[in-house]
Amino acid sequence: MKKNNFRRKKAMLYFTVGPSQVYPTLPKHIDNALKKDIPSLNHRGVEFKKLYSETDINMKKLLNIPKNYQIFFVSSALEAMERTILGTVEKTSFHIVTGSFGKSWMEIASKLGKQVQSSSGVDLKNLHLPGRIETICITQNDTSTGIQIPMEEIYSLKKKYPKVLIALDVVSSIPYIDINYSLIDITFFSVQKGFGLPAGLGVMIVSPDALEKAQFLQKKDISTGSYHSLTNLSEKYKTFQTPETPNVLNIFLLNNICLDMLKKGIGKIRAETDRKAKFLYNFFDNHSIYKPVVQLIEFRSKTTVVIDTKGESKKLRYSLPKKGYNISSGYGENKDNQIRIANFPAHTMKDVKNLISNLKL
Ligand SMILES: *Cc1c(COP(=O)(O)O)cnc(C)c1O
Repeated sequence: MKKNNFRRKKAMLYFTVGPSQVYPTLPKHIDNALKKDIPSLNHRGVEFKKLYSETDINMKKLLNIPKNYQIFFVSSALEAMERTILGTVEKTSFHIVTGSFGKSWMEIASKLGKQVQSSSGVDLKNLHLPGRIETICITQNDTSTGIQIPMEEIYSLKKKYPKVLIALDVVSSIPYIDINYSLIDITFFSVQKGFGLPAGLGVMIVSPDALEKAQFLQKKDISTGSYHSLTNLSEKYKTFQTPETPNVLNIFLLNNICLDMLKKGIGKIRAETDRKAKFLYNFFDNHSIYKPVVQLIEFRSKTTVVIDTKGESKKLRYSLPKKGYNISSGYGENKDNQIRIANFPAHTMKDVKNLISNLKL
């Protein structure tokens, strides 16, 4: 019998912004997961606890997360937005909205009965918070617009308002984005973008201050959620378990991709991302028709490049797949005017150069 031939035949490369191209070692890890009976593992057993604990250690090492932060598994980034609001906000949250994902987060808070305030400014150094804000919600890299907020801007906000909690959506910038976690209270992402994994797993990185707030709300009899409340997740984390039966397969795969990235070196991954981003922006800055949407260089996303195609998006999204490349359309109302190109660790410089040479034709 032929062995796993179906995978090697597939020629399509996914530059879509998520789900995206899978990490190159993923097929090998899926094979190993089956060999090791990972899908049949009892999630209350020793082996699962070991897997959770190892993933916690490896992710902390890869991303430089303080040891006293807790890592929780949820179903998605949208779920993490809800957990963040319920766990840290009694009355009022503040939202930095630079695109549709930031807007979704604000709407989630509003639907949960919180008062929401917002700003669309990216100049956080000069932001003045109104009244009593409990948590500032920031989409560090909004995948819909390709706007990224430099971490220095975010740190300056924390320094100005040290008592206010900061929650960060890094779904489409991690693991590229280098974060000083000691200044951030909740960071979350889902795994189908920068980690090149199948969708269906969200990760939350939670500070002692955020957990203290969740406990405070719970003591006041304010609902912080049910089985996936921050307090319940934290209680289970003590023994490296989860409240529900989690996505064990994806946790296994995430742990292995973390190990691969550790072996390669996060510095190298970040430097490659910078080089590929430079190549992409350089091409479009010099293109006669297509132009980057974000003008100010420091706010341009390195990982999700959004291009104004002057109405040619459909044409490109039709012609590129025939040559083996998938890209994303613009988001929402920009569907036909823009394209979005992912620049994740699974994309090599060679892939990017090939994509660009196909755009030239
Ligand atoms: C994709 C994305 C999300 C949503 O992720 P899900 O896994 O679908 O919940 C949230 N925020 C940003 C910035 C994203 O790119």
